[in-house]
Amino acid sequence: MEELRHVLSELVIERVGFGIFVLDRDLNVLMWNRFMADHSGKTAEQVTGKSIFASFPELPRVWLTRKVESVFQLGSFAFSSWEQRPYLFKFDHDRPITGGVDFMQQDCTFMPLAQDGEVCAVCVTISDATHASMMQRARDEAVAKLQEFADRDGLTGIANRRYFDLRLSDEFSRWQRYDGDLSMLLFDLDHFKRINDELGHLVGDTVLRLMAERVAAAVRVQDVFGRFGGEEFALLLPCTSFDDAMIVAEKVRCAICETPIDVQGARVPVTASVGAACAKRGVTTSYEALINEADAALYAAKRQGRNRAIGFR
Ligand code: GH3
Ligand code: MG
Ligand code: MG
Repeated sequence: MEELRHVLSELVIERVGFGIFVLDRDLNVLMWNRFMADHSGKTAEQVTGKSIFASFPELPRVWLTRKVESVFQLGSFAFSSWEQRPYLFKFDHDRPITGGVDFMQQDCTFMPLAQDGEVCAVCVTISDATHASMMQRARDEAVAKLQEFADRDGLTGIANRRYFDLRLSDEFSRWQRYDGDLSMLLFDLDHFKRINDELGHLVGDTVLRLMAERVAAAVRVQDVFGRFGGEEFALLLPCTSFDDAMIVAEKVRCAICETPIDVQGARVPVTASVGAACAKRGVTTSYEALINEADAALYAAKRQGRNRAIGFR
């Protein structure tokens, strides 16, 4: 029975699909299984009996020494996953290189081997986590892409209403807590229905896209530019006073009307009306109130003849 058990463990150690090797306290290799030999290109004869760093000088010496020493001292298992340290050994993997992973990703386990209650060696196992890591990476990328889509307006690529409101509510809370200014603009293309009616919906779409591009190029990176609905846009201006918001409002209005757009052989003049509002301490009690103020200013700009920027101090 004892004989059989010995043969079995020899067989399993040599044939399992993960690396097994044993180190003494000075990090000399006592055992090296076939997986380790196959992947490292170094046989058990070549590596046993000497320091693992003699055969693999590129190993992270300080980290590995500390890890093994802790197992000797505490007598308990230790682990390292590919998420913490992608690999210990630079082994090739058998996956397509398009997966974005350079070497075999590895999970490592460090187990104390005790004799008479004393740890006499540490057994290290190396398992191939490349597949899991590639799946995880693909998943992370997909989630990031979905997140990006969830925040953007499909036609113009700028922030959508949901994301704009989220940022507005964040900036409004920050403004309530700290000193400083917060302003916003709402603007709406003038007589846009005519463009659609006379030139078609597709031209209308192109006009919306190009206008969004122009405005995006004219604002600061910390401003949040979003599509509020239809042909109505919003610009959130953190740390911006009323006077500065009015300057931005003029800049936006001019960016829209300065040159007519050439689409499908037609020259389309486009103008916009802009409403500006700044948050006022003791008066503006919610971010919705700020939107309402900007909306009232926009309405005034429309009533006063369009193609103008209005704000109530
Ligand atoms: P005003 O100067 O008072 O704003 O007049 P207006 O014609 O721009 O306003 P109105 O609200 O009457 O019309 C807005 C038009 O915008 C109607 C709607 O069909 C169009 N619109 C809304 N969203 C889109 C879109 O995504 N693409 C296109 N092409 N048109 C859109
Ligand atoms: Mg309009
Ligand atoms: Mg409108």
